[in-house]
Amino acid sequence: MFRKLSAHGRTRSSLVLTVALTALVVVFNPTSTGEQLRGMLGIGQDLTFTITTSGGSGYEFAVLQPDGLEPVTWDPCREIRYVVNPEGAPSGYAEVVTASVADISRATGLRFDYVGTTDDRRFSDRSGPLDTTPAPVLIGWATPDEVPDLAGDVAGVGGAEAAHLERDRLTYVTGVVVLDRDPFAEMGHTLRRAVVTHELGHVVGLEHVDDPGQLMYAETTSRSTLGAGDLDGLSILGSGPCR
Ligand SMILES: [Zn+2]
Repeated sequence: MFRKLSAHGRTRSSLVLTVALTALVVVFNPTSTGEQLRGMLGIGQDLTFTITTSGGSGYEFAVLQPDGLEPVTWDPCREIRYVVNPEGAPSGYAEVVTASVADISRATGLRFDYVGTTDDRRFSDRSGPLDTTPAPVLIGWATPDEVPDLAGDVAGVGGAEAAHLERDRLTYVTGVVVLDRDPFAEMGHTLRRAVVTHELGHVVGLEHVDDPGQLMYAETTSRSTLGAGDLDGLSILGSGPCR
């Protein structure tokens, strides 16, 4: 999540990436006769399943496996499909998205597949029934009226949904980045890149850290690119098991 502060007479450095929730996790448990066990981490949902822990000095993982030892990851042997809903996006958005996706891909080794533009606006629940293919990661722009989690100082939300594709192991299957339309339009290119990369960091499984030297710090700093701790965490998140 990305939060801005009202900044009277201050420069863009007063824009603040904020804490708040990060990963949206929907957990399916196919072992219980297809019944969906849903636990949400973030995005305005009650927290019924949460394991957030320190992954090291410069990074934290959004969610750990049920054993509490390893982070939940995407399947590195499959491309992460994503779509972009350009409604409300400023001109030049595609360059920002493409470059930030490339940053995360390079840092994780995960491959992304741009499916195209979409009019899909299901920002809050992308998983669908158990027997359907998960929707691609959705990147889009909205106002707080449509996405209440963008209300107040929040200028962006990012997260992923995980499923029990194997017994006792969760795998991310879809995700979302939604950016607060109006403040995003006012940002310069560098800050837009920082915000989108930060939110994509959540999508691949990073949590915020307290270190202002990392892009996953909750507030904007002079850092606008991935830091050493971010890169360490992203490398691990790209090294999950293939299914
Ligand atoms: Zn965040």
